Amino acid sequence: MHVRNNISPRLYWRTTLLLWLLALQWLALASAAEVQGVRIWPSPNQTRLVLDMNQEVDFSYFSLTEPDRLVVDVNQAQFRANLNALQLDDTGISGIRHGTRDQGIRIVLDLQQPMHGRVFALPPNEQHPHRLVIDLEFSEPESPLAVQPGEQAPPVERRMDTSGQRDLIIVIDPGHGGEDPGAIGPRGTREKDVVLSVSNHLFRLLEAEPGYRPVMVRTNDYFISLADRRNRARRERADVFLSIHADAFHNAQANGASVYALSGRGATSTTAAYLAEQENRADVIGGVGGISLEGKDDMLREVLVDLSMSANRSESLRLGDDILRQMGRVARLHKDTVEQANFAVLRSPDVPSVLIEVGFISNPAEEMRLRDDAYRQQLARSIFNGIKEYSWRNPPEGSYVYQQKNAPDRAASGFGEYVVREGDTLSAIAIRHQTSVAELLRLNNMTNANSIRIGQRLRVPNV
Ligand SMILES: [Zn+2]
Repeated sequence: MHVRNNISPRLYWRTTLLLWLLALQWLALASAAEVQGVRIWPSPNQTRLVLDMNQEVDFSYFSLTEPDRLVVDVNQAQFRANLNALQLDDTGISGIRHGTRDQGIRIVLDLQQPMHGRVFALPPNEQHPHRLVIDLEFSEPESPLAVQPGEQAPPVERRMDTSGQRDLIIVIDPGHGGEDPGAIGPRGTREKDVVLSVSNHLFRLLEAEPGYRPVMVRTNDYFISLADRRNRARRERADVFLSIHADAFHNAQANGASVYALSGRGATSTTAAYLAEQENRADVIGGVGGISLEGKDDMLREVLVDLSMSANRSESLRLGDDILRQMGRVARLHKDTVEQANFAVLRSPDVPSVLIEVGFISNPAEEMRLRDDAYRQQLARSIFNGIKEYSWRNPPEGSYVYQQKNAPDRAASGFGEYVVREGDTLSAIAIRHQTSVAELLRLNNMTNANSIRIGQRLRVPNV
């Protein structure tokens, strides 16, 4: 029997169209963006939530109140990440939900309090793919603190001792953080971790020292923009600003510690120029939001800032020189003079500022040293000694250090220099300066009492 395939042309076209539509939909799904990973970075001022995307996405967002929520819609996307491992303590977020919406996803962040939300995309870099960044600020943005050039910073509370002398304020800026790991060593050591550790050691040393008050710009693993770092120095009315790094160089042979001060003109070496470029990229990697701050006024502001900066450039060089010489006692130096380069983080008028590279993390041997906490402590102590030397030489009036230096009975409160002569022993020098061998070893970052040599300049307490 013959069965006739009785399909009308109309039905045939309908079926074909339907199949085409299904195919198109399948294609759309296959090419949909995916949220592949989620990271969270809480900091004192804000929480940053980062979504790893496999491609560029189209998104929108809005806030809702009662209860407070931030809603992010991502078009043509699917959620493939696992939220269970996400630690929400201290983030201001009580929960994260997501669901499908049209062809995309809707992500809802339940907030514990009103927070100012901002969402932006970041392009891929060496470490991460395309990203969608959600910033939630706890309070008003801190930008009003930015002091305009030429303006006086608002007075801040300063710790006074009983005699009314103020502490010197040392602002320590551990480089990078959060989404921006900084340089990564051959064994995977991350610059952001190394510099936070050195900075913490330095903080503790300064904290224990009378007359000094250290302030940490970053106390944990989160991102801060370069502008906010230097604004912090101004807001604190810092006496000294130190940005601490451990960078990579394209040449793995490069090694040694270096100290940089800001230069108005070109960098003093190609390494300095290269590193300045890398550091300044931190904002792009960490993401300042891809939002233009003040447009063309920025340019004018930079010029003004740079002009007002020149006054203390020589102070920065002096500070850098003191630190570099102290670091030379524990670390190999990359160059034995302070280098000058155009680091954005250093553009803080009126505050002597230096950028310290504690070493090149890209050098395998140096990376190994930087992984050693005892070495990081030594580095911190040498920086600490450099700061003390600098501030002791020319302390600001009204400070505790100034008072100590100029007090008539400043027994053992200041430092002098002693040049080792033939036949000297460390114990004899200690007795002559009414101190102990242990104290001399500490002051000079030495471990071995027998390692002195003729002509060596030792730091000794003034008698
Ligand atoms: Zn760095």
